[in-house]
Amino acid sequence: MIQLKIKDKFSIELPADPDMDNSRRQVLEACFSYVTPKKPGNPSLIHFSPEMVQAIGIDYKAVKSMELLKIFSGEEVLSNTRPYAMCYGGHQFGSWAGQLGDGRAINLCEVEHNGKNWALQLKGAGETPYSRSADGLAVLRSSIREYLCSEAMFHLGVPTTRALSLVLTGDEVLRDMLYDGHPEYEKGAIVCRMAESFIRFGNFEIFTSRGDTKTLKALADFTIRHHFPQLGRPSKEAYIKLLKEVADRSLEMVMHWQRVGFVHGVMNTDNMSILGLTIDYGPYGWLEGYDHGWTPNTTDRQFKRYRYGTQPQIVLWNLLQLANALHPLIEESEPLEAILREFRDNYPKANVTMMRKKLGLQTKEADDAKVVADLEAVLQASETDMTIFFRKLANFAKNRPEEGLKIVEEAFYTLEEIEGGIKNQWEQWFGVYADRLKMEDVSDKQRKMEMDKVNPKYVLRNYMAQLGIDSADEGDYSLLEELFNLLKDPYGEQPEMEKWFAKRPDWARHKVGCSMLSCSS
Ligand code: AMP
Ligand code: MG
Repeated sequence: MIQLKIKDKFSIELPADPDMDNSRRQVLEACFSYVTPKKPGNPSLIHFSPEMVQAIGIDYKAVKSMELLKIFSGEEVLSNTRPYAMCYGGHQFGSWAGQLGDGRAINLCEVEHNGKNWALQLKGAGETPYSRSADGLAVLRSSIREYLCSEAMFHLGVPTTRALSLVLTGDEVLRDMLYDGHPEYEKGAIVCRMAESFIRFGNFEIFTSRGDTKTLKALADFTIRHHFPQLGRPSKEAYIKLLKEVADRSLEMVMHWQRVGFVHGVMNTDNMSILGLTIDYGPYGWLEGYDHGWTPNTTDRQFKRYRYGTQPQIVLWNLLQLANALHPLIEESEPLEAILREFRDNYPKANVTMMRKKLGLQTKEADDAKVVADLEAVLQASETDMTIFFRKLANFAKNRPEEGLKIVEEAFYTLEEIEGGIKNQWEQWFGVYADRLKMEDVSDKQRKMEMDKVNPKYVLRNYMAQLGIDSADEGDYSLLEELFNLLKDPYGEQPEMEKWFAKRPDWARHKVGCSMLSCSS
């Protein structure tokens, strides 16, 4: 039998919605509502992560997969637990959207194991008071995308929520994937995801928007007590430090995104974790051609608010909303503004620091910002595969800059493009790079070793996830398993997996699910 060390805190210490009715409504003066997961029609376990099962203290070899399935499909509720959905609001695409909440996420419980707190959450386990006009369910394709990507991100060293299991519910779910009036039935699925906490910026915003300072304070105090105990006892100073801490963590998170070429796609404030974790894997995508203007999210096609190049600025905008949400507890603007100003001044520097690592530069030089900016410009000017480019760049020899283009050749989508002006631009940049490398006392070999630790060889390219989805939809999970294992070691050479170190194939260029993703999930 599955026995967990249950240590519920969020639902024990914070005010609950007294209404037990699972109808859609505005929930006031409460941080969550109790709900029961929907009983799945005919659940089956597709995949689980042995590592994450162990992380919560389950000996996966001793436990029957049937038992995992019951709990992580929502069929059975663990004894001594009361599942719940959180109340939060959010700014979506720049506008206040009011109450959102866990419309299709149900928190099972919090578990303590090996000194860590894990909140367990089922995504797609049925409706809650926050489901608004939707069904509370999730489909296989979006569940595979979340399952694979959150684990891939972890192994890339990016702060993220984790994934424990992927199940099919055996129920069908109706989705209009392209929002073009052609709904179809798809397989229903549930991911059990895990994080120290799922509290979002939007959890704070909702109370401030309603003038409910009492519940806001309860939530802020709770957050500090359990997740930022180093900030000391709740006080004005501690709330200010909370913003600073969240700003620092969010900056770190987004710089990792920029480093690996991850585009979140829906950076609404309800999708921003207070712990600086990447959360809510929806229409995200991976940069293939290096392009600051790229977003995978078709819903954002017009304004491209959440494109790759603006992600750090959007974090700042979101932090401003969090600052506004915390303001009633602090009643002073200046210290909050100072934190935001600092973020604004820091993120360009953080970008150069991050790029220095990608370029294998170990010292700081005043001109590095220009070296980086020139590279970004020339990378954009020719369709260049980001992952292949940086991985290959590690083979550059500082005494042979003339070989630079040849070394990264494989990264270009159309070699014919690299002619004339662009060719000159590239050659010039390699010259500057070689000169810059000569200012450091690091051998080419040593530099390669360092670069290979920050420039992944394998990422979850958009078409790879789609191939995994297509075969899983046919009932073949071998590719899912292959990708899951591949992405556990993204910086390793894994020569037998070389076929995944390749540019996006041409068929995937404009294919739904590969280059275009809707929010439908
Ligand atoms: P997202 O953009 O996926 O982060 O979702 C925004 C809001 O819509 C959140 O409150 C979600 O819980 C809710 N939501 C998204 N999909 C569904 C669904 N299928 N059923 C109910 N609520 C949903
Ligand atoms: Mg969300």
